[in-house]
Amino acid sequence: MSDDMNELDTPTFRLAVAQFDQAAERMNLDPNLRQRLKIPERSLIVSVPVRMDNGTVKVFMGYRVQHDSSRGPSKGGIRYHPDVNLGEVAALAMWMTWKCALVGLPYGGAKGGVRVAPEQLSRAELQRLTRRYASDILPFIGPDKDVPAPDVGTNPQVMAWIMDTYSQQVGYPVPGVVTGKPLSIGGSLGREEATGRGVVYVTLEAMRHLGLEVEKASVVIQGFGNVGSHTARIMQEYGLRVIAVSDKSGGLYNPKGLDIPELLKRYRADGHRTFRDIKMGDWITNEELLALDCTVLVPAALSEQISHKNADQVRCRILAEGANGPTTLEADQILTEKGIFIIPDILANSGGVIVSYFEWVQDAQRFFWKAKDIQDRLQEIITAAFHRTLQFSMAQRATMRMAALMSGIDKVAQAHLARGLYP
Ligand code: NAD
Repeated sequence: MSDDMNELDTPTFRLAVAQFDQAAERMNLDPNLRQRLKIPERSLIVSVPVRMDNGTVKVFMGYRVQHDSSRGPSKGGIRYHPDVNLGEVAALAMWMTWKCALVGLPYGGAKGGVRVAPEQLSRAELQRLTRRYASDILPFIGPDKDVPAPDVGTNPQVMAWIMDTYSQQVGYPVPGVVTGKPLSIGGSLGREEATGRGVVYVTLEAMRHLGLEVEKASVVIQGFGNVGSHTARIMQEYGLRVIAVSDKSGGLYNPKGLDIPELLKRYRADGHRTFRDIKMGDWITNEELLALDCTVLVPAALSEQISHKNADQVRCRILAEGANGPTTLEADQILTEKGIFIIPDILANSGGVIVSYFEWVQDAQRFFWKAKDIQDRLQEIITAAFHRTLQFSMAQRATMRMAALMSGIDKVAQAHLARGLYP
């Protein structure tokens, strides 16, 4: 990492840059472009003062990073988590750029976040924090500029508050300023489950490619939030046996398969916040979960969960990366040497931004689609991206991750070359 990137220097940003460097090297990317694509276009740091319910004022750190806008307005989620920092947000923004280009959406990449533990705030505090953060980044977002969406720790309600804050400021309703909104204000059918549904579609394609049978397959999922829980439910709907799931407090393991609708009901019921209370299998740690023998492992929590420390113990046939950046560079190599087929994050979890794109298009047209149209179009786009990546990886003798990165980076590079350097 060069000195001019000191502000961003964190493990997650280092991972994103190392992946980029590997791909750029292999592609023989123009050195001028290489430097431009490494450093985000715009990085915003804001302090977010919030009046707490007890009358005191607490200040939170907020960020919005726009990595690249050569192909269209930038797009990316907003994360509320105690570990959020500028480097992590910049890494996530860079991955969004490659992801949108890889699957062919007319967007650049962005990401935002606030360093906060949202579960420790009351609903009123969360609303005040969201509205203040939204107004701090307001000049830099908009349907034609930069369009936020949910990520870890945020949800449709948070998006609704951002949409309302923006609309109040400009004086008219602007549903297209965010995606992942509630249906009542211009959200899209199928958005909430979209990332999980996309993970399932690409997993099924990978299984077909590897000649693995659905009836015999077992699935393990780390993280049971938006991505993990919908992945679990839809995997089961497609006939796969989900044998373990987890959240940050630990997991549940049942080799016969978990009944996901029943588990969801109990998990969301009042008083049940951990899997330890739900007697549907054995309680296990996240370390044990990642080492379970299974056909498909889906990390759907945070980044760098699979590292040189535990990669040796991973025993899946397919790693479908629901989370962003769940595998470190060293772990990636270990898993590849073990013959594990990796569906990289920028492909595996692209269902979320694909349906976010549908939502943005519907908002612009004031014309809303049926659920079936959304599922069909999502399947068409993500399946085509999977096969393009697979063909490219075989032609180049590259891993799926390298092929996906090279395809995404190439499209962004072409846009930069076409537009030239201003002034
Ligand atoms: P979420 O906040 O809804 O859920 C996160 C889940 O991870 C929770 O169940 C939490 O308990 C669990 N978790 C946190 N730390 C953990 C740990 N150390 N071990 C095990 N579990 C842990 O977040 P989400 O929206 O589901 O996002 C999950 C991942 O998917 C993130 O990497 C995010 O960037 C990525 N992603 C999300 C979307 C989306 O549409 N929401 C789209 C693409 C990628």
